[in-house]
Amino acid sequence: MKSEARVVVIGGGVVGVSTLYHLAKKGWGEDSVLLEKAELTSGSTWHAAGLLPLFNMSYSVGQVHKYSVNLYQSLEAETGQAVGLKTCGNLRLAMSQDRMDEYMQYAATAKTIGINVEFLTPAQVKELWPLCTTDGLVGAIYHPDDGYIQPADLTQALAKGARFNGATIYRHTLVTAINRTQDDHWEVVTNKGTIKCEHVVSCTGNYARQTGAMVGLDIPVVPVEHQYIVTEAHPDVIARHERGEPELPVLRQSDDSWYLREENKGFILGPYEKGAPACYVDGPSIDAEYELFEGDLERLEPHIEACMERVPAFAECGIKNVYNGAIAYTPDGNPIIGPAWDVPNFWLNEGHSFGITAAGGAGWQLAEWIVEGEPTIDMMGVDPRRFGDYATKAYLVQKNEEAYANVFVIHYPDEEREGGRPLRTAPCYDRLKSMGAVFGQKFGWERANWFATEGEEQVDHWSFRRSNWFNAIGREVRNTTENVGVLDMTAFAKCRISGSGAEAFLDYMVANKIPQKVGGIGLCHSLNTRGGVHSEFTIRRESDTSFYLVSAGALQRLDHDYLKKRMPRDGSVHFQDLTGSMGVLVVAGPKSRQLMERVSRSDFSNEGFRWLTSQDIVVGMAPNVAMRVNYVGELGWELHHPIEYQNHVFDALFAAGADLGLKPFGIRAMDSMRLEKSYRMVGTELSIEYSAYESGMDRFIHPDKGDFLGRDALLAWEQRGRSYQLAALEVHGIDDADALGNNALTINGELVGRATGGGFGFRVNKSLALCMLKPQHAQTGTRLQIEILGKMFDATVIGESPFDPENERLRDVNGVND
Ligand SMILES: Cc1cc2nc3c(=O)[nH]c(=O)nc-3n(C[C@H](O)[C@H](O)[C@H](O)COP(=O)(O)OP(=O)(O)OC[C@H]3O[C@@H](n4cnc5c(N)ncnc54)[C@H](O)[C@@H]3O)c2cc1C
Repeated sequence: MKSEARVVVIGGGVVGVSTLYHLAKKGWGEDSVLLEKAELTSGSTWHAAGLLPLFNMSYSVGQVHKYSVNLYQSLEAETGQAVGLKTCGNLRLAMSQDRMDEYMQYAATAKTIGINVEFLTPAQVKELWPLCTTDGLVGAIYHPDDGYIQPADLTQALAKGARFNGATIYRHTLVTAINRTQDDHWEVVTNKGTIKCEHVVSCTGNYARQTGAMVGLDIPVVPVEHQYIVTEAHPDVIARHERGEPELPVLRQSDDSWYLREENKGFILGPYEKGAPACYVDGPSIDAEYELFEGDLERLEPHIEACMERVPAFAECGIKNVYNGAIAYTPDGNPIIGPAWDVPNFWLNEGHSFGITAAGGAGWQLAEWIVEGEPTIDMMGVDPRRFGDYATKAYLVQKNEEAYANVFVIHYPDEEREGGRPLRTAPCYDRLKSMGAVFGQKFGWERANWFATEGEEQVDHWSFRRSNWFNAIGREVRNTTENVGVLDMTAFAKCRISGSGAEAFLDYMVANKIPQKVGGIGLCHSLNTRGGVHSEFTIRRESDTSFYLVSAGALQRLDHDYLKKRMPRDGSVHFQDLTGSMGVLVVAGPKSRQLMERVSRSDFSNEGFRWLTSQDIVVGMAPNVAMRVNYVGELGWELHHPIEYQNHVFDALFAAGADLGLKPFGIRAMDSMRLEKSYRMVGTELSIEYSAYESGMDRFIHPDKGDFLGRDALLAWEQRGRSYQLAALEVHGIDDADALGNNALTINGELVGRATGGGFGFRVNKSLALCMLKPQHAQTGTRLQIEILGKMFDATVIGESPFDPENERLRDVNGVND
């Protein structure tokens, strides 16, 4: 066995082999080794049903799946190994208007990433799938390019391609330990010897947690039992084949949580059952190969019955086999593909529940990331760092069972699942709850989305359209704009970067200038090496050598890892996570100055406390750092305090604010207001797929300040020319829904861009969206069309920040807030 390699891939399932194949295709073949403890495919891959569903609501996963299906079409020609690909199409039925809304929303995403879909009436469903009834159908969505493949053959073809490009595969080679060496390499210890390497890629399926533990990582993957049934052949299917008719498309009845496909002139039925238990919670046995569990027909019964009603022929088939295997899951059901946190050059391609479908794209993007330093598509939706320490084993059991049971539920944009809640709560949680808060969860934190008032149900009615929260949000926005509001933002990620090298380090990490005066605040962006935006930080200078950084709560691990991995290792820079120890309450609105003056002796006048500055103040008796910034475009202060003071601060504000009209507001009101200010968000308008200039961040970028991460690449990108430009849109003629993001934008039928997010702006009384448009169409006044839930609406490009474009309210010019 080799003793050295550049990269070692652990795991010979379809995902590991695809990763190896793509590394080899990128020219690293001679330097890449794959280790598999048994035979290739002996983990989960051999028993997969092989379906390749393109349907996915996530922009990242959608692109990954699309790449896979394209690759699989050419693999046989490339490698000479048949893969059993059947492009029979995929028909997803809809039994309600909400389900159709989901398909319509998805179809817009599909259009922006080039996936072919068609909508069918019940009569067209019958034509395509004569063996099914159409009772209760509203319609269906059809993917003609979808189908299935033989997973083991696919893996062998990828292995052949990898070997052909120089890569080495060692079977029957068990990895038992992974150690970091003094000279910053990895040492992968196996039962056959040790390999020293630069990079390790973990593709170990249901063993992910055991492999992670070898390097001290708690990987957020716990598998769940998943079954499918194979039936005997049916005369009607045999007759179809004899007549030379095409194979039936895969049929999915999402509303009853099952799929059905042809198999040897019979069927495979695959349900996603409620109550399917987590399994291998402490990992499978190290000797497990080709392992299956006992089938549980009782759990399958409701799905079998629903399928019999839809497809009477299915009821007439004898059951041949029940397969019950472990399927890897994460709390949101998407895989984890990308760098691990805290450890360098350790990569994860784990947690795949649709691993046959995702393997091609996942291997492709991970190989780009390893070889070229960056992926080319926005991988935020699958980044391993989207989960944090809160994702303990017990949490994973609950959330992953829930994610499995909900594979086929309608994926409402405002859906908030109940599993594993409440977990992380700010001290003011109970107070907010008693004030009517309807909570959502982000990164384990409970956050108030909106507030029900008397007579209103304190519960969300999820929808793709404006729902019961709509009026409440309008009320909260109005109160914050006319009076004063309080928003709990304790979930923000917070950290301190300090030390003699802190300023130089941060100056290199961000494109903006670092605030120079103590107390100064700057909005600063870390770019990736290609010039796209990776992270956004609000940076407060605490002293000559200390800085306080605030960023999005959901991105805590991602943002902090980005900083920590790039810190000099000579001890000149220190990192301290303050997320759990600092609470944040945002006070915003024209009467916020009056309110602050009542609870604190500091000077809150425009002269005494300037916009974009901060001061140490006392609220009631509690120490706070007040920062005069906010995300809603009103006069206001963010109050950052040691967490144990939060309720004291909260009570002081509410005791003093009643006659000023002080009311709490929630995340959804904040989001509506940020849209009216055209404030960008990381993961939507700010992404590695767009240059920082394309995202319109010009005023936060200072190429003349000296070198910074991504600077040269950004300038080179600018030289090559922009492909997109951020713009704000007003949508006309819509009164029950708003753009949700990923909406296709067209002019005379030609695709000219995509909306990144949208909503209703209550202060401007308009339906708004932010979007990325081809630059020639981004001028103010351009008329175009936007697709929202299957219908085209007129829209106009408007100037940025339709509400208070000069920031007069934030800056309080000439006392506009008095
Ligand atoms: C019943 C069922 C039906 C399914 N149907 C579909 C489907 O239709 N479509 C679809 O897309 N997906 C489907 N899946 C999911 C699919 O099977 C998985 O997502 C996919 O196989 C995952 O591949 P993998 O390479 O990540 O994992 P695996 O195939 O499990 O490979 C991991 C490999 O790592 C090896 N390994 C682990 N630890 C070590 C170590 N320490 N040293 C060396 N080697 C190690 C294991 O031996 C194993 O071979 C199904 C799953 C189940 C259970």
